[in-house]
Amino acid sequence: MKKQIERLLSLIIVLAIAINIISIHVFADSAPYTLQQNTVQDENGQWVTSGGAYTDSRWGMYNCYGYAINRFELSGFYLEANDRGNIQYEVGEIESEMPIELEGIDYNQLNEVVERVENELRCMGYTGVSHTLNTIPDVSPSEQLICVRMGDDNGTSFDYHFMRYDLETDAWYHKPSTSAILKFNGVPSRNVEWIGEACLLSGEQSTEYTYKGDIVFIKYTKNTIALPQSAPDVKHIKEGRDVLIEFKVNVAGNYNISISSRYAFNYEIYDNEFNIINSNTGKTSVSIVPNLQKAGTYYIRANFYSENVEGDVSIGIEHQHTYPPRAMYFNSSLHKKTCPCGGSVEYESHYVRRSEIVDGRYANCIGCLRRLDLTTDNAGIIMNTVIKISDNGSYVLSNGVVVLVDEDVEAFLNGTLEFNTYNEPAEIN
Ligand SMILES: [Zn+2]
Ligand SMILES: [Zn+2]
Repeated sequence: MKKQIERLLSLIIVLAIAINIISIHVFADSAPYTLQQNTVQDENGQWVTSGGAYTDSRWGMYNCYGYAINRFELSGFYLEANDRGNIQYEVGEIESEMPIELEGIDYNQLNEVVERVENELRCMGYTGVSHTLNTIPDVSPSEQLICVRMGDDNGTSFDYHFMRYDLETDAWYHKPSTSAILKFNGVPSRNVEWIGEACLLSGEQSTEYTYKGDIVFIKYTKNTIALPQSAPDVKHIKEGRDVLIEFKVNVAGNYNISISSRYAFNYEIYDNEFNIINSNTGKTSVSIVPNLQKAGTYYIRANFYSENVEGDVSIGIEHQHTYPPRAMYFNSSLHKKTCPCGGSVEYESHYVRRSEIVDGRYANCIGCLRRLDLTTDNAGIIMNTVIKISDNGSYVLSNGVVVLVDEDVEAFLNGTLEFNTYNEPAEIN
């Protein structure tokens, strides 16, 4: 009981001093404020200095750290007790389910925070974790870069703050406590103090928190699945931990996703804002077909049902391919249709209308619109090579090009046209 009281007391102290835990303290005179160092998205998704829209109620539930390390799923896997109303994550909780403030670690020391963050990333299976002091490292598309800064270098700071770099937009983003997500103007530099800004339900705010200490840049390799896969990816889950796997689809649609392991697991599939698309618990194998409604980034989070096992999960992701009506010419025999996902190409023979053959040799393919020379394409309308003929008189040339009589076109396009195959070259009328 005493321990509980102690913990409660320390919790209250922490709540009182750490901005990133519960809420933003704004200056008393909340006159309309225009952001100086950041922009925020308005209703139309434009980045603006005033008129930002507070559109996601979950913004009240996670802070700069959860945002920076891309772990703002709710409810958080590493938040066992709902100590803070499911507000996530403080540095320390992923490794030990307790914010470092409560463990007696001096969280005012930048190196303590950095060491802890790096441990937490490794807990979740990330590799290639490294950091640099005040110097932004190069980053590749397979890497994630974040940075952390203290209020000051004296160890007397109240707070630390994280930002996350996005390579695609070449910009830094951050989320001060319960604020909407902000886009930082320029790049983080030791020479430029971060002023306290936020966008809350009530609009843009100036806050009392500033950060002017050293900046540590932490880089790590993302845990990704690249599509299309040639074989299912195998991902490792440490004892009592989970993995968050990122995958990008370049076309919306249905995807066959299979997950399997020798141990029962729980999983969720999220869109890029961590809305759950699909989930299940206690399975050793699942096969699902979620509809991913937009091209873009998605996540699979998985952990073992038992906290006491460590092992692999195997994950396969495949688009249910669809092909456009218009084919592309490939060669004299074939044209091809490519699924917009890029993962599958379908080849088929050209097909022409017999009624549109000009000069006994030229015709436009109905599928790819290419004008074919049926003679020089070495298919020729050489009657003595034709052995596949439909009841109505459509036939297949020796190189596979299909010559259709008008009444067969619809059946052919529907895939229902049947050809009679002869052992001997047949007579065409
Ligand atoms: Zn596809
Ligand atoms: Zn064609």
